[in-house]
Amino acid sequence: MSTLEIRDLHVSVKTEDGPKEILKGVDLTINSGETHAIMGPNGSGKSTLAYSIAGHPKYEITSGEVLLDGENIVDMTADQRARAGLFLAMQYPVEVPGVSVSNFLRSAKTAIDGEAPKLRTWAKDVKEAMNRVRMDPDFASRSVNEGFSGGEKKRHEIVQLELLNPKFAVLDETDSGLDVDALRIVSEGVNRFTEQGDRGVMLITHYTRILRYIKPDHVHVFVAGRIADQGGAELADRLEAEGYDSYVQAAKAQV
Ligand code: ADP
Ligand code: MG
Ligand code: MG
Repeated sequence: MSTLEIRDLHVSVKTEDGPKEILKGVDLTINSGETHAIMGPNGSGKSTLAYSIAGHPKYEITSGEVLLDGENIVDMTADQRARAGLFLAMQYPVEVPGVSVSNFLRSAKTAIDGEAPKLRTWAKDVKEAMNRVRMDPDFASRSVNEGFSGGEKKRHEIVQLELLNPKFAVLDETDSGLDVDALRIVSEGVNRFTEQGDRGVMLITHYTRILRYIKPDHVHVFVAGRIADQGGAELADRLEAEGYDSYVQAAKAQV
C-alpha cells in the first residue's frame, strides 16, 4: 500500500509585488486504491495544489510537508518526484514543438524507469494505449500538443498516465473542454488506471459531470486555499445543487 500525505501545506507564488500566499494550510491523505475529488471555484488554488505536489519551481512551499510513503518530497525536483511515482496531468498541457508524441513518451518512460523500454513491446504498448482513447495513430509523429484540440490534449494525458503507470495521479481538470464522448473515453482511462487497485487519484474539477463516470471515495471542497469541507460522493451532488457560494461567503467572513 502507498500513501500520499499532505500536511499543513502553505504555498506562495512569486509575483511582481513579492510572494503571495495561495495555499493556506492544506491537509489531505490519499491511500492507494482511493479516488479523491477536489472541487472548488475558479481561483481557489486547485492548480497551485497540483503544481506544488508535482514540484513546479514557480510555487514555493513555505511550510508543511508532502509525504510519499512517509518520505518528504518537498525538496525533490519535479523529475525526482515523477520517478518516485507521482504524475500530474496539467490543466493546460504545454505544447512542445519539434518533439514527437512518440519520442516524448519514450523519453518520459525511460526517465522514470531508469532504462529504455523494450522497443518491440513498447511500440505495441503505445499503439494500444492510443487506440484505447481513440487517438489516431498519426498523432505519434506529431509535435506534442501542437495544434491539438482541447480533447486531444486530454486524451494524450491519459495515454501518458497509462504508459507511465504512476502510484499517484493528480488530474487537474482533465474533464474541462471535453464533449460527452471524449469525457466518457477519458473517464474510462482513469477508471482502468484505478482498477489496478493499488493506485491513487486526486481528481481536480469544478464540474460534477465527470463524477457520473468516475466515482470518488472522498470529495473535498476547496475554497480560498484551504479545504473547507469534505464528505463522500453525496457531497458532490449537494455541490451540484447548491454551488460553492455558501463556502465562498464563509471563507470571506473568516478573513
Ligand atoms: P484554480 O486552479 O482553483 O482555478 P489557481 O491555483 O490556478 O486556482 O490560482 C489560485 C490563485 O493564485 C489565483 O488567484 C491566481 O491568480 C493565483 N496565482 C496562481 N499562480 C499564480 C502566479 N504564477 N502568479 C500570480 N498569481 C498566481
Ligand atoms: Mg483556474
Ligand atoms: Mg486550475
